[in-house]
Amino acid sequence: VAKRDGKSCVRLFEKGMSGVASERMTLEQELRRAIAEQSIEPHFQPVIDTGSGNVVAVEMLARWRRNNESVPPLGFIRLAEDLGLINQLSMQLLEKGLTALRHFRQHYPELKLQINISPLQFADRHLALTMLQTIAAYDLPSTALAVELTEGAMLLYPEQVEQTMRQFVEAGVSLHLDDFGTGYSSLARLRDLPFDTVKLDRSFVVMLGEGDTTLSQAVFDMATSMHMDLIAEGVENQTEYEELQAIGYRQMQGYMFARPMPETALIQWLQAHAAA
Ligand code: C2E
Ligand code: MG
Ligand code: MG
Ligand code: MG
Repeated sequence: VAKRDGKSCVRLFEKGMSGVASERMTLEQELRRAIAEQSIEPHFQPVIDTGSGNVVAVEMLARWRRNNESVPPLGFIRLAEDLGLINQLSMQLLEKGLTALRHFRQHYPELKLQINISPLQFADRHLALTMLQTIAAYDLPSTALAVELTEGAMLLYPEQVEQTMRQFVEAGVSLHLDDFGTGYSSLARLRDLPFDTVKLDRSFVVMLGEGDTTLSQAVFDMATSMHMDLIAEGVENQTEYEELQAIGYRQMQGYMFARPMPETALIQWLQAHAAA
């Protein structure tokens, strides 16, 4: 079809491509600069134990302010991966996160930091060692850290993922399976890996709000039978909250409790929450 339509079609296609390509070049350059200048900042979202009302952890979520807009992490994390900059970015965020955690722990001494790890980071055989040394350098116990992986993380470097996970477990780092149920991992594979916590994806929480409890119940039963803890993500309203409670979920995270926020805002939030 392209051939029959002749040159004009080809030229149109090329023009379209070059527009997209130059936009990507600009984005690439700006991301390179943002990483070089360490200007990508962590935000933190509280995780609540609804049984006690305590804040048990905060999840670190990357934020890039570009042209006065907050670029969502899924886009630039992917780009940082493509550019081979994900390790550098992740280490910067880890150090910023640990600095903030030391401040949070002045108010909540037991607070844990949950961080997301990209599948590509497992290419580095020293990932666990480097991260553990960094935590120690910040004078924090490795039990203060939880590492979150998605099912997809296990596909790329399965052996190194396994080895790295064992190193984390030995050091007392908690391992969370993120977005469970949205990927393609088998139950047998999950049973063989040392996850201690499953995070229920927001897409299942949304179904709960629509009266469909099947998948949230199934994830709960599976995790419980494998002696894993659970955290429900993206809890936005009372209906979702009550449905989760009815199934047995206790740890929750979502806009209903608090949005992800910068360090200073979170410290204020923690103080207000402790007083309440
Ligand atoms: P995730 O780890 O599953 O994080 C949860 C996402 O849900 C976050 O999106 C959070 O802002 C959002 N969320 C929390 N509560 C609610 C709610 O009540 N309603 C709704 N609609 N959303 C809620 P965010 O910050 O856009 O991050 C998206 C994903 O990007 C994360 O998913 C994580 O996989 C990845 N990510 C974020 N920061 C990093 C990072 O530093 N490194 C890596 N490798 N990945 C990261
Ligand atoms: Mg996560
Ligand atoms: Mg998730
Ligand atoms: Mg998610």
